[in-house]
Amino acid sequence: MSCANVIKKERTSVINPLVTCQPMGAMYAVSGIRRGLPLVHGSQGCSTFVRYSFSRHFREPSEIAVTSLHEDAAVFGGRKNLISGIGNLAIRFKPNLIGAISTCSSEIIGDDMEGFIKVAREEMKKRMGEKEAEKVKIVPISTPSFVETHFKGYDNAIKALVNNLACDPSESNEKVNIIPGMVNPGDIREIKNILNLMGAEGIILTDISDPFDSPLRPSKTETKPFYPKGGTTVEEIEDTSNSLGTISLCGYAGSGALSLEKKYDVPAAVGPIPIGIQNTDQFLRNLKKFTGLEIPDTILDERGLLIDSMADLVSRYLFGRKVAIFGDPAISSGIARFVCELGMTPSVVCTGVENPEFVEEMKKVAKESDEHVDVLIRSDLRDLETYLQENPVDLMIGHSDGRLFAKHLDIPLIRVGYPVYDRVGYHRVPIVGYNGGINLIDRITNTVFEKYYDKEHWKLQQ
Ligand code: SF4
Repeated sequence: MSCANVIKKERTSVINPLVTCQPMGAMYAVSGIRRGLPLVHGSQGCSTFVRYSFSRHFREPSEIAVTSLHEDAAVFGGRKNLISGIGNLAIRFKPNLIGAISTCSSEIIGDDMEGFIKVAREEMKKRMGEKEAEKVKIVPISTPSFVETHFKGYDNAIKALVNNLACDPSESNEKVNIIPGMVNPGDIREIKNILNLMGAEGIILTDISDPFDSPLRPSKTETKPFYPKGGTTVEEIEDTSNSLGTISLCGYAGSGALSLEKKYDVPAAVGPIPIGIQNTDQFLRNLKKFTGLEIPDTILDERGLLIDSMADLVSRYLFGRKVAIFGDPAISSGIARFVCELGMTPSVVCTGVENPEFVEEMKKVAKESDEHVDVLIRSDLRDLETYLQENPVDLMIGHSDGRLFAKHLDIPLIRVGYPVYDRVGYHRVPIVGYNGGINLIDRITNTVFEKYYDKEHWKLQQ
């Protein structure tokens, strides 16, 4: 019987990492709030790399502030920096929310962020007046970077947002909370399209679709606004306790959903990400369960179009091909299941995390596959490269960081996930939902044509 062989990295050093540190996930989450500002309580580099990485992937600027801790803060603490930083941001940029994000340095020196925020609030009242100061929500987000990865930072941020902002429940708002995970603007728009077709209303926690892909509308009279349009409002987050349920689309970001369930009896459904037929079916079943709404013909037609694409392409071009998948654990397990649905084999799936939900999901995927699946956890791209030298595959599916060894090993790389910086436009194209499945199958099949078919004679080369 086919099974998942879980392999943990033994080398202590990391070469060509698949993950970065916790604050990045929190910066991503706070960027999806309307007039939300991430304030990184750490050194300048902690925010600079992330800003650079966001702008390379999304091709948009991102506003991220930093308290700029230097050597003196390591000795005396970062109290002064955080208090004056919060005050300056509130007065100058009038945000609706400041997410105060800790880093390894502020965690190690033991800064009492919650205590400092109380003092900052009193200072703000003096500087801005009580009424104006009350308008700015400040949420402390603990992201100690010496443990776990940016996926944990994202999870911590979503949990901190609902724990600090969700109000005591009143009347049902007849909405569903959706925690999308660290997906692209195109994916969030596809999730909203599904909700719309179902006739369901959602609260996306948090919605980076417009903030990271906003229109540029030049005008002679107006300058570019400081805050992008869109994003989840603070009021929506406050209202999450009145929702019919919470669907977290990834296993690593279930804490916010479980917290709403525990504190306010809002039922939770955690994972899997709706990539491919089975996972999208499950997402729709969850939506139906929470809302009581029927799945309309338009969505069933989208499903039918995906199945039609599979019928057209699988047996002729894709069946039996071996695939290596790497990157975000949620996206990787979703792609692995979809690859099985396409008759291909996810020979190896590699992530930088050691996440029990991911391992369980991969065990299920391996059972569905007729072949053996190697699952590399807490791993890096050097491990994957070494593995592929001994166990070659036909295709790689993952982000741009694998491009160099993919080229070296002469394996075509299909780019998905984050970051993708050596291609443009991928952040706008969904891979979730049935429409996303159609995009993915087209992308995979075109890559197979490009690599394995003789273009002149249109014959199979191998
Ligand atoms: S590991 Fe620590 S110092 Fe380095 S970027 Fe992350 S939070 Fe900053």
